[in-house]
Amino acid sequence: MAITLPDLPYQKDGLAPHISSQTLDFHYGKHHNAYVTNLNKLIAETDLAAEALEDIIRKTAGVADKVGVFNNAAQVWNHTFYWHSMKPHGGGLPTGEIAKKIDADFGGYANFTEQLKNAGLTQFGSGWAWLVLKNNKLEIMKTSNADTPIAHGVKPLLTVDVWEHAYYLDYQNGRGNYLEAFITHLINWDFVNSHLV
Ligand code: MN
Repeated sequence: MAITLPDLPYQKDGLAPHISSQTLDFHYGKHHNAYVTNLNKLIAETDLAAEALEDIIRKTAGVADKVGVFNNAAQVWNHTFYWHSMKPHGGGLPTGEIAKKIDADFGGYANFTEQLKNAGLTQFGSGWAWLVLKNNKLEIMKTSNADTPIAHGVKPLLTVDVWEHAYYLDYQNGRGNYLEAFITHLINWDFVNSHLV
């Protein structure tokens, strides 16, 4: 049972002009695809080959001789979650249950966006910024490289990739501008709400 590259939930140009089809050609078509290919090579003919992706991640997290498997498996999972965290004409004010919970747990949307942007900006080097649910409370989290909340028993609701490959073609070194565009134009609040129930 090989791990497969899931389809993008929109067309390659669906997020333009905020994220270009050229970025998705490389980010999805090359980077995400390479994590899938590498993972399948690493788990071939091992006990992990029969496992679901999330189980591979949990079983290899923190295991010294399984770092390569963990990194590729977590990157496969994180990228799929990231594609679904965005939608064409998304972003802006949250709707539904998440809107109420952001008000309750962050004291308002402005504080939420400030914290998410700050987490993305201050993640040194490559990594991810997340909105997560921990003990039934919303929190902002950041992880390095391939690390993922599901390896720490925390429930992710939303993620933004802050590896340079996510934004360099469109924003060069302007990580802040990319994060601003993600927040203002791309967040898929329906996807976030679907994880709250
Ligand atoms: Mn990436």
